[in-house]
Amino acid sequence: MRHVTLRWLGVLVGVVVVAGALLIPGAQAARKLRVVATIPDLKSLVEAVGGDLVEVESLTRGTQNFHEAEVRPSMMLKLRRADVVVENGVDLDAWADTAIEGSNNPQIIRGAPGRIEVSRGLELLEVPSTRVDRSMGDVHPRGNPHFSLDPGLAPAITQTIVDGLARVAPESRAAFEQNRTAFLAQLQQRMAQWTKTMEPLRGSKVVVFHPDFIYLLTRFGLVQAATVEDRPGIPPSPQHLVNLIRQMKEEKIKVILVEPWNDIKLANRVAEEAGAKALVMATAVGAVKGADNYIAAIDYNITTLAKALQ
Ligand SMILES: [Zn+2]
Repeated sequence: MRHVTLRWLGVLVGVVVVAGALLIPGAQAARKLRVVATIPDLKSLVEAVGGDLVEVESLTRGTQNFHEAEVRPSMMLKLRRADVVVENGVDLDAWADTAIEGSNNPQIIRGAPGRIEVSRGLELLEVPSTRVDRSMGDVHPRGNPHFSLDPGLAPAITQTIVDGLARVAPESRAAFEQNRTAFLAQLQQRMAQWTKTMEPLRGSKVVVFHPDFIYLLTRFGLVQAATVEDRPGIPPSPQHLVNLIRQMKEEKIKVILVEPWNDIKLANRVAEEAGAKALVMATAVGAVKGADNYIAAIDYNITTLAKALQ
């Protein structure tokens, strides 16, 4: 009985596939461009420029540590049907290479028109001046990859996305450009508010657990005085913590910025000993409640910082 049902199911799938193939010329005109982003920040930016011409999925959630994302079969399924992949680059999402290889989709392999890497052309911060060996555990061997939530870089990143989408769907370039212009106008307006909010706090020092915020801090004139980690991705030694607490007291540093996925207990302990406060930040879109899209995530971070530092 079960056998028979399965056979009929197979026939039915065959019929649907054939019918689908016959319909392709008409269907293609209306079909949305299927985009997969490696991280939710990029998903949000693709939605901003793609509008209703795209459907976008992210391979990770905002609450995750992207450095340690695991390649799963579900990632490959999403990638298999993708027209375009948007990746961060600079080692943050190097795991995507494995997932893309596994997806067996020639449209998105490196060098294919459907592959967009947004770090291209950006000026990176914290590029090591000496050679850093990843085998020693440093997860930022080629510079800091956490640039996606710096609103000052959004014009460049969205341009890269528009150019990439237009390679695959040239007929939609004008629409993508128009969406981008509208999005940047909205961002520009918020940028003026954020700049005004942060202006009195210029020069303020903060400690970060993992260096997730160097682009945002630099943009608004704040100073990353130290990290709780020894080096990016490497947990602190007891001696490092002793030095850190001493430095925070001496320099009267009031806050430690911590990622939702990180050791918040440790951050709280260090903050308490130093007479400071640990703040959970939106390391990505969706990392905390209320940070549901690109602008909301930045707004969350600016508001949180301003409140704690004033
Ligand atoms: Zn990192």
